[in-house]
Formats: sequence, structure tokens, C-alpha cells
Amino acid sequence: MESYGPCGRKHVVGCLWVLWTASILLLAPDRAWSWGCEGHQAVAMIAEKHMSPHATEQVNKLLRGVPIDPTLSRWCSSQGLDLMSDASTWADDLRKVQPEASSWHYIDIPRGAPRSALAESCPASTGCVTSALEHQIEVLRNDRSTAQTRADALRFVIHLVGDLHQPLHCVSNNDMGGNCIPVDFFGKAPVEKNPQFESYFPNLHSIWDFGIIVRLMGRETVAQWAGSIDQQFRSRAGRWEKAGIHVEEWTWESHELADSVVYAKLPVVVPVEKPQPMKSCVDDNHVSARMLNLHEQISQQYVDAVAPTIDEQIAKAGVRLAMILNQIWP
Ligand SMILES: [Zn+2]
Repeated sequence: MESYGPCGRKHVVGCLWVLWTASILLLAPDRAWSWGCEGHQAVAMIAEKHMSPHATEQVNKLLRGVPIDPTLSRWCSSQGLDLMSDASTWADDLRKVQPEASSWHYIDIPRGAPRSALAESCPASTGCVTSALEHQIEVLRNDRSTAQTRADALRFVIHLVGDLHQPLHCVSNNDMGGNCIPVDFFGKAPVEKNPQFESYFPNLHSIWDFGIIVRLMGRETVAQWAGSIDQQFRSRAGRWEKAGIHVEEWTWESHELADSVVYAKLPVVVPVEKPQPMKSCVDDNHVSARMLNLHEQISQQYVDAVAPTIDEQIAKAGVRLAMILNQIWP
């Protein structure tokens, strides 16, 4: 069988991604990334298929008028991408120069928590993906803001709608959104990347952000993959649009999918942990070492079981991003 681990890919980007991940893990007990380059770009490409001509024109005008700082180191290649797809990964690059915005990419709702107020999981001091997205939509809507502020807000909105739809960005089982669950991914055994923080790669979060998507794409380009997902869910888009813009509702939906799909389909049951604050995978009695002992083996069976959810979340994120932009620029 063809090897699909990031370094098994024909593209150099896969190997670089691993090196980059490893180097960052050496620096800090960082957590959740995002959908990888492909996931975020696909969300933007699907959104573009659902945007009004006015929204498309205004988005491109704003992104063209205030280009991304050329000194910002970009992880994903911009080659061949339109402005919006290129903008979709900017917020992750920004974390290197604006680490205080890192908490905007996720929300740690304890696994299995029933729907209630989100405030407990979204500290006002740091913010979370839900509050950050709602705030950036308001900034974008305010035409008295400077062009720079609005362009930044637009790039955040494009990115954060994507992150919100990655179920592991809306949950924590004392595992930092699955970052502390080492997994064997198609025979690639988990390796400890940082003994100080007890972080491993591959882990459950990384395969959801990136590893599984690369397998699902196969030999397709991102544009082809996004196009086929959009086609697949065209008949449901009307229903999603009719339901309106409800960022908190979308957060809970994503949170519930973490439990009912991401964890539920794992070959070995992961017990629900009693919630406690986490700084790294060392906490909660060495959670990653305990999870390593479960010997989770991710094979085609898991990929087949979760693929419909990944496809639908990417499609929903695209349609909902378009809804937000169409509401601002009808
Ligand atoms: Zn992100």
C-alpha cells in the first residue's frame, strides 16, 4: 500500500511540515494547529462558490488593497492561489509574531459537556475561537475601521470559520484537543518530539488537521477536492443557509462531533477525563504517556468512518463563511 504519512508524500511540503512541527514543539508546549494548508484553502475555495458578486468584489478589493506583510514568514505556499485561498492560512503564520492571538484558534470545552453557556470555556482574558470570530466579524462590518484593520479582520474570519469546524478545536479531554493522544498512523509509530512537554507525533490532532485530509485528497489538487466536496453537499447548502449565522451553535455542533465521531470511532476507547487546567501533555498525570499505552492504531477503517464528517465540516465551513461575507456585502 502506498505510504501516506506526511513524509511519504511526494510533495516536499509534507516533510517540511513535520520538521516545522517538530521544531515548534521543541520551543513550547504549544497545542492545536488548524486544518492544514489544504483544509483551510478548501474552505475558502468552497466559500467563493457561494459568495455574491458584490461580496467577491469587496473581499478581493480589501485583500488586494492591503496585501499580507511580505516580511511575514508563510508556511503554506501561495503559488497558484487566489487572494482568498492564500489569506486562509495567514492567521496561523501570524501566531509566530502575535502569540497572544494563539488562543483564538480553539475553545477547550470539556469532552461530553452538555450545552450551556460557553463563558466557562472561553476566558475573557484570552478569548477563544468563538468570541474571536464573533469579534472579528464585527470589526469587519464596521466601515469606520481602517482598511488595515478590516483586512486583518477579514483574514481572521476566513481562517477562524475553518478552525471552528475542526471538531478537535472545540473540545478538550485534558489532551489539548487531541494533541496529547499519540497514534500510530498507517504504520508510522508515534515518536516523542519533546521529552519536557511529553509531546508526540503523529497524534490525534495532527491526523485530523492534516494526515487524513491528505489521504482523502489522494492525487487531487485542493481545488479539485474542494469542488467535489461542494458538489457532494450542494443539496444541503440551502438548509445550512436557511438556519442562519449562529457561531455558538456551530461551536456546539463541532464539539459534539468530537465525542460522537473523533473519539467514538477510535479503535481503543479513550476514557473521559475529569476536566483540569492543562499547560502541556505532562499534566493530568502524564496524559500522553497514559494515552500512548492505549496503542491507538489508525488504519483505513478509522479514515472511512470519519471521512464523511470531515467532508461535511469542510463543506459547512465554506458555505457558512460565504453566508457571513454575503451578509456584510449583500
Ligand atoms: Zn488556526
